[in-house]
Amino acid sequence: MIPQELHDLLIGQYGDALTAAIEEGYAAERPVTFRYNRIKGQGDPAARLMAQGIEVRRVKWYEDAYLVEGAREDVLRETELYKNGEIYLQSLSSMLPPIYLSPAAGETVLDMTAAPGGKTTELYALSGGKALITACERDGVRFGRLQYNLARQGAGRVTALKCDALALDDAFSFDKILLDAPCTGSGTLSLNKPARFSESYLLRCAALQEKLLKKALRLLKKGGEMIYSTCSVLRQENEEILEKCLGRGCTVQPLVPLEGLPLLSGGAGTLCVCPSREYEGFFLAKIKKEG
Ligand code: SAM
Repeated sequence: MIPQELHDLLIGQYGDALTAAIEEGYAAERPVTFRYNRIKGQGDPAARLMAQGIEVRRVKWYEDAYLVEGAREDVLRETELYKNGEIYLQSLSSMLPPIYLSPAAGETVLDMTAAPGGKTTELYALSGGKALITACERDGVRFGRLQYNLARQGAGRVTALKCDALALDDAFSFDKILLDAPCTGSGTLSLNKPARFSESYLLRCAALQEKLLKKALRLLKKGGEMIYSTCSVLRQENEEILEKCLGRGCTVQPLVPLEGLPLLSGGAGTLCVCPSREYEGFFLAKIKKEG
């Protein structure tokens, strides 16, 4: 069931036709997708999984992203590739922020709200293990999950901090920041799972997102870049948060959509992915702090 309050907000923001497309995306049964982890990888995951009867295909826009045809998560979890951290089960949309942040060797990178660590380990892999990554998580149980995934994925040089990112000292500064903010998850609803959504929850999420983004902008070096992302399709958690926080030398840098992404909007250079059979709903913005 789609909560009525969410349906009404979608209609108000997107109108009837796009709301119908979003709600069709909620109802779709998405295939399992995974990211090949080059830090641990021992060669072509597709061929090795195919040899075990698991059919996979590579996604056009990222050589390490794969889609599994006809096998569920539990089958993948039994494979050696999964057990030894060569692959990480991750939605396609959630692979986008690290790709657009593009961390390089030697850069200091803050992953502000990091658990369970899918994007932290992707940032690490994208930099060949050579970016200097700090990953922050305030929830104790989720922090444990982050540590486990860092270890399993071989991301040994990540500094993991169990702390509230809002309490980080403003004396720290980073070349790049990923703020994959806590959100209502309005892009990832699935009709098979109970939905947690209410307008008061939306307001609480938006208030926290605003604080976290303002903090991120203080921690970003002059000349630095960051990605703000959510798995929500609601403008209250996306464009409106940007409107409240940007200005004073911090501007949105237009993102070029990768081939095949089903987009709801690309207004003002941000991207909002429409929930669909292959993608969860997701929002991304790249922000630059002028030097
Ligand atoms: N980026 C993660 C990944 O790809 O695996 C998912 C992050 S999830 C959307 C948001 C996380 O932020 C949650 O684990 C939540 O506990 C954490 N969080 C919320 N508020 C926080 C804060 N003030 N400081 C640090 N972490 C926070």
